[in-house]
Amino acid sequence: MSEEVRDKILRIALQNAQDHGKTQDKIVLGKILGTEPTLRTQVKEIMPIIIEIVNSVNNMSSDQIKRHIQDRFPDLLLEKPKKQEEREGLPPLEGAEQGKVVTRFPPEPNGYPHIGHAKAAIIDEEYAKMYGGKLILRFDDTNPEAERLEYYAAIKVGLDWLEVKYDRIKNTSDDIELLYKKCQQMLDRNFAYVCTCKQETISANRREMKPCKCSMAELEQNHERWDRMFSKFKQGDAIVRFRGDMSSENTVMRDPVMFRIIETKHPLLGDKYRVWPSYDFAVAIEDSIDGVTHAFRTKEYELRNELYYTILDLLEMRKPKVIEFSRLGFEGMPVSKRVLRPLIEEGKVSGYDDPRLPTLEALKRRGIRQDAIRKFVLSLGFTKADTLAPFETLESFNRKSVDADSIRLHMVKNPVTIRIGSLPSSTITMPNHPTKEMGKRTIELGEEFYVESEDVQKMKTGDFIRFMGLGNVKITNQSPAEGQFVGDERGTDIPKIHWVVQKDALKIKILIPSQLFIGEQFNPASLEEINVFTEHHFNELKEGKEIQFVRFGYCRKDSMLQAIYTHK
Ligand code: ATP
Ligand code: MG
Repeated sequence: MSEEVRDKILRIALQNAQDHGKTQDKIVLGKILGTEPTLRTQVKEIMPIIIEIVNSVNNMSSDQIKRHIQDRFPDLLLEKPKKQEEREGLPPLEGAEQGKVVTRFPPEPNGYPHIGHAKAAIIDEEYAKMYGGKLILRFDDTNPEAERLEYYAAIKVGLDWLEVKYDRIKNTSDDIELLYKKCQQMLDRNFAYVCTCKQETISANRREMKPCKCSMAELEQNHERWDRMFSKFKQGDAIVRFRGDMSSENTVMRDPVMFRIIETKHPLLGDKYRVWPSYDFAVAIEDSIDGVTHAFRTKEYELRNELYYTILDLLEMRKPKVIEFSRLGFEGMPVSKRVLRPLIEEGKVSGYDDPRLPTLEALKRRGIRQDAIRKFVLSLGFTKADTLAPFETLESFNRKSVDADSIRLHMVKNPVTIRIGSLPSSTITMPNHPTKEMGKRTIELGEEFYVESEDVQKMKTGDFIRFMGLGNVKITNQSPAEGQFVGDERGTDIPKIHWVVQKDALKIKILIPSQLFIGEQFNPASLEEINVFTEHHFNELKEGKEIQFVRFGYCRKDSMLQAIYTHK
């Protein structure tokens, strides 16, 4: 193994020991594979080196560790404050074995993917990567009433945009026959029964912890009724119920549904099937047969774990480890398909890509980048507490990402005309970015300029004002505003303002999204539209181009004459 790799291992081990007192070979391995993907095929070779280095580091006193870092990796001492800000990433995974971890992302194709799905998919993928394992994308499509072909595609598009790479793709509906077989086994062994009670009776019995008549039925009757679910019974006439415990404190265990009849056409299978498994039954069987080792889901499913494990125990099937994390939410922005769908259907927002929404389509359209989403998700770490995440944190990751690629343009919101005499030339050339090589643009000058009304209000006759990129102007009259160009000598603390040459001006619209809900109330003013003047150069930019409007903020060009405000 090269000296360079040894050095990297040592660096990680020292840093880890400094942060946590001791280091561990598993953690060092995870970290080195995270930063050096090419080593993922050489785990066998590097493991002995890691063990050797970790042992020697663990034998050092904290002073020795500090000295080593000072001598060999002094830059680590500088990185300290940055680490604080970015917080911890994902902790090691319990029971994970290198090369054997299998995770899955199981979206239901019943809506457009949102940032909550991004969180789940990124965590699934990061853990698979961390341990050199595999990620499965599994469409959890067993409720034809809610599912549509369009959503399967939208979810794939979203994952592609996020650059989440999966090793395998499948649908729960591929396995429907197998799920029937597992149900038969449950019925054979009396672990389940067919219930024909009315929905109200079932709910009442659940509440009162009472079993119903159907649960006492003979095996034969259950089989007969199961067969009838495929023919004579109609939707709502019969369901298969897991024989749990009607007096359990855990309400999930009170004989939950395993199969029900749904007569709606399935987006992939049409009317081939009418008996569909419940989420609880399908997810347990599927995770087990797919070889999933670590099954992540959000915290609200926690009570369902008992059912998940019991089903697999009874069927003597391999049990994955179920792990919960918190649901991602934002203040005033619903991160849930259930809440998003009615907003769209009722026309309260324009569609799935309305810039106020947390869907991936909307975030992208608004100018949030995928790398910022990933950093944001990882910065939140692996907490179980359902706290609202500050949207500003996502914005600050995004700002770092877009800044270097955003062209600087002038844009005036509330225009007032100022007339300027003695201009030195008829054109001016401006750099598109202050530090990055992004070309220049030439603007034709004229005597009339648009400037912000609030800037004009502050001007007094005799003031000197810096017109950014152009030069200094002496104000000669307040109303109407007039000035004289006075050359380039820059006074130290004169106000700087942006401007647009009137004859070069292009009128565009900027959409400014803000919180969709204030408390529980839909906020009808959540999408502000402003008409502004920007430079003609806007025309030259491709749709999707990121812009920083000077003294205003970052935006993304949305269409020919429209931009969307991203953030400050
Ligand atoms: P929704 O309310 O949006 O319908 P869901 O949980 O029913 O949410 P699924 O399509 O079933 O949506 O979710 C696929 C995966 O994404 C699940 O593992 C789920 O736990 C996770 N997930 C969904 N929403 C969030 C969220 N807001 N934060 C974190 N993970 C989420
Ligand atoms: Mg769901």
